[in-house]
Amino acid sequence: MEERASVLIVGAGVVGCAVAFELTRKGARGVVVLEREPLPGAGSTSRANGGIRAQFTTEINLRMSLLSMEVLDSLEEEIGAPPAYRKAGYLFLTGSPERLEAMKKAAEFQRRLGVSVEVLDAAQVRRRAPYAAGEIAGGTFGARDGFIDPGRLCTFYLSGASRGGASFQFGQDVVGIDRRADGTWAVRSAAGATFTAPVLVNAAGAWAAPVAALLGLDLPVSPVRRHLFLTGPVAGLPPVIPMTIDADSGVLVRREGERVLVAYSNPDEPAGYNTAFDPAFVERFADPLQARFPGIAEAGIDTRRSWSGLYEVTPDHHAIVGAAPGLPGVYLANGFSGHGVMHAPATGRCLAELVLEGRATSVDVSPLSLDRFARGDLIHETMVL
Ligand SMILES: Cc1cc2nc3c(=O)[nH]c(=O)nc-3n(C[C@H](O)[C@H](O)[C@H](O)COP(=O)(O)OP(=O)(O)OC[C@H]3O[C@@H](n4cnc5c(N)ncnc54)[C@H](O)[C@@H]3O)c2cc1C
Repeated sequence: MEERASVLIVGAGVVGCAVAFELTRKGARGVVVLEREPLPGAGSTSRANGGIRAQFTTEINLRMSLLSMEVLDSLEEEIGAPPAYRKAGYLFLTGSPERLEAMKKAAEFQRRLGVSVEVLDAAQVRRRAPYAAGEIAGGTFGARDGFIDPGRLCTFYLSGASRGGASFQFGQDVVGIDRRADGTWAVRSAAGATFTAPVLVNAAGAWAAPVAALLGLDLPVSPVRRHLFLTGPVAGLPPVIPMTIDADSGVLVRREGERVLVAYSNPDEPAGYNTAFDPAFVERFADPLQARFPGIAEAGIDTRRSWSGLYEVTPDHHAIVGAAPGLPGVYLANGFSGHGVMHAPATGRCLAELVLEGRATSVDVSPLSLDRFARGDLIHETMVL
């Protein structure tokens, strides 16, 4: 079987589905999405915490977040209820006066670029997070930050793209890509199908490097395991709490029904496709959780309801978005380094502009081009979670 398309997208996670949606919105026809799993979002998307924030320290991360928020607001009615984007805020808190000074500087920079972020003193932090204990010097709060439901957003994009004429082909594991004499890309799947198109988008998440390797392209995207832990029911929490980050330890908590989701990054986690959940990891954050959020720690971690998945990480923790150098018609939407759900709406919009209009106008994504690594022009973000 051979099928012709105008644009082929590899990967039906939230990024691939957002790209398909925005392409069809702009009138593209013949968009085909190839996904090896039987369902959309079965890679990292279904494992994500769904946080969305504009509290970053680089202009490009911040602009991608602001565009995503704008796109999500504009789609609110179409997505319907319950809302996919809930603005519960992000609260960063610290017990260190020196760290607070750095956070104030970051907040000034964010405000200059249009982010609504407040600097809070200790009493204001305690009012917003009565469940936080220990030394508190202050913090910052972004009211427009919050959560996106990753699965809901992914299926919304998929349905919208399908209504716009895109076709989603599941069970198609891409195993070979060749360039034909007429310049089109021929993509072969393990199921024996071939799809051809002049435009090919790599949206393969943590598997982006092996897909790029089929094109002879070396893509610096590594899979890195990340855990999320669900507590038992927590008594006495306010009905809505912000994503709360203890900037001193890196422990992050947010409400999930009557329970709380806890995240903590492991700087020693080796790169690899290991997604096995490790219950012993709890020991790594037990002390800082107890010290900062004792009421939440008391509820205990329910390891049977906790899980792990893969971040897709680049050397500078920024995405790679743009045309692939030396490969006409090939585009990359990869390496989101823990921000792929929140930056999917912006990426879909910008990639559709690049493919159809030759230039991304909603946000200039040129700082995210792959050749920054060859030039040694890495982007430095300090608010990595
Ligand atoms: C525990 C955890 C918490 C997270 N929390 C957040 C958060 O709070 N906020 C946030 O923004 N992000 C978060 N992330 C990151 C986020 O999940 C990812 O950045 C995002 O889902 C990436 O989307 P994607 O569509 O690029 O990748 P994926 O969802 O992984 O989709 C890629 C798809 O490509 C398919 N594929 C791969 N190779 C092939 C092939 N050869 N042929 C066909 N199909 C192929 C895969 O099956 C997969 O479905 C978190 C991730 C984890 C693991």
